[in-house]
Amino acid sequence: MKTVNSEWRLNLLHLACLDDIIVDIKINEVIDLNILIENILAVLPGGAETCCVYISDGLISSVSSAPDGFVADKTINGAGKMLIPGLVNAHTHSPMTLLRNCADDLLFNDWLFGRIMPLEDNLRGEDIYFGVLLAVMEMLRSGTTAFIDMYYHTDHLVRAVDEAGIRCAYSRGMTGDLPDASIKLRETLDEIDRLQATDTRTFMLAPHAPYTCDEGFQREIAAEAKIRGLPINTHLAESLAEIETIRRRYGCSPIELADRAGLLSETTVAAHCVHITDSDIRILAERGVTVATNPVSNLKLANGVAPVPKMLKAGVRVALGTDGAASNNSLNMFRELSMLALIHKGINHDAQAVTAHEGFEIATVNGARALGRDDLGEIKPGNAADLVIIDLDRPNMQPISDSLAALAYSTNGSEAETVIVGGRILMENYDFLTIDRERVFYEVMKTGKRLGISGT
Ligand SMILES: [Zn+2]
Repeated sequence: MKTVNSEWRLNLLHLACLDDIIVDIKINEVIDLNILIENILAVLPGGAETCCVYISDGLISSVSSAPDGFVADKTINGAGKMLIPGLVNAHTHSPMTLLRNCADDLLFNDWLFGRIMPLEDNLRGEDIYFGVLLAVMEMLRSGTTAFIDMYYHTDHLVRAVDEAGIRCAYSRGMTGDLPDASIKLRETLDEIDRLQATDTRTFMLAPHAPYTCDEGFQREIAAEAKIRGLPINTHLAESLAEIETIRRRYGCSPIELADRAGLLSETTVAAHCVHITDSDIRILAERGVTVATNPVSNLKLANGVAPVPKMLKAGVRVALGTDGAASNNSLNMFRELSMLALIHKGINHDAQAVTAHEGFEIATVNGARALGRDDLGEIKPGNAADLVIIDLDRPNMQPISDSLAALAYSTNGSEAETVIVGGRILMENYDFLTIDRERVFYEVMKTGKRLGISGT
């Protein structure tokens, strides 16, 4: 049923300051619609079946018969299409789209300290805003409806994500040693108080990594997170150089260091965890940490392969992330899912090391849990309507025998045709309804030229 608040708001004019000029961005916004998706092959928790999905007030209200009094404002014909829960990118740095393809075939330390950080020093707030919009476009186009981000310039991130309508858990990456680093924590907490969490916008505290934050600073962040009930987002055990550095400085592994600093708990998301021991895995399982694995980034930076099958066996919750577009160089979660399911089979000589079913769960439900949400990641009544319609009218998607195998092994990521977040359509038939595509392309190219990395 259409609520009192239901309305179409089309072509709103939004004014944004861009350095010294004013630009107009047209935003098409459609909110609070009753949406009926008819006769679609839906990937439900119990398996795929053809059904009708009813959406109202931003939620999935039914996956079978029409709820009492339901009148559709919009009906989508699901014939020849598949409906899946939106994928959750559990680890990325969205503005790094600006640095895509500008630092390749380099080892981790040369990549980060030699190339990326000096470029990041020259990024301005408005660069970040358009870089995030580019990232969101790429994510929507490849079926992602939520992501966990770590960066800085949070105001510009929030502005872009709010306008685009996607779901995001923000974390400002903090680096440094005590006592000087404390100011960064205070600034971050002020930022969180000022920006306030909403249904689609949440915050985490992010000690960047054990090699960029000393133990005292990690301890201070952990204590503040407990007091405020904020989750933690951090990088752990990504490269061999990190393992050596931490062992030399502290005489232990990065996981042991994070644990003794109090950073590890059920609300912690630890990205990478590539170089970990059986004892580290036990700590991660006991503390209930979610590990965000990033197989493509780990391969590209020559860091190795995380022991995901071992972690799964030990009961560690594993989610999936792309990492930033400067180390991947893509935010395509279908590509990541395929890599996840394939690489562990290959290196373990075990075809069941990570199955299509496990991979899909890792990319959806486990990502939702990493976000701290138990009402996302599955198509069922009462869950938020974060949904992706997949086009099956393609040679690579025919015939459909096993839906999860098709999603894990046959997709290339371009099959996402329509994307809904919280009941709001953000992309319809491949058209972005909330983002001015040409404007974003123009602005990121301009930034690339200023940084001296475009067309090199
Ligand atoms: Zn990262």
